[in-house]
Amino acid sequence: MKIRLDRTVCDGFGVCAKHAPSYFSLDDWGYASLVGDGTVLDEDRDAVMRALLDCPVHAITEMGDRRPRQSAQPCTTASSEDPAENVKTESNEAQWGFTR
Ligand code: SF4
Repeated sequence: MKIRLDRTVCDGFGVCAKHAPSYFSLDDWGYASLVGDGTVLDEDRDAVMRALLDCPVHAITEMGDRRPRQSAQPCTTASSEDPAENVKTESNEAQWGFTR
């Protein structure tokens, strides 16, 4: 697990440092900064998640694991039918007009 702290959002409540003091430090005004690079050990995950969830301004976010994008699938909506057969005209209004 890896976390990120947006210091521009932090309002200095200090909740994070209370829950996970080894990951957050507070400056003289109470604003938080990350200790380390944001990598969270498995045994500290609960405390850090509590800090993340209790931050009143959501300044702490969990960085998701990057996964390779699925390869793009070709569009398969094209059918072999002639699209002109589905055009709504006055001559076939009896077929599509009831749905109005
Ligand atoms: S809990 Fe949130 S607002 Fe409070 S010090 Fe930590 S990051 Fe800043």
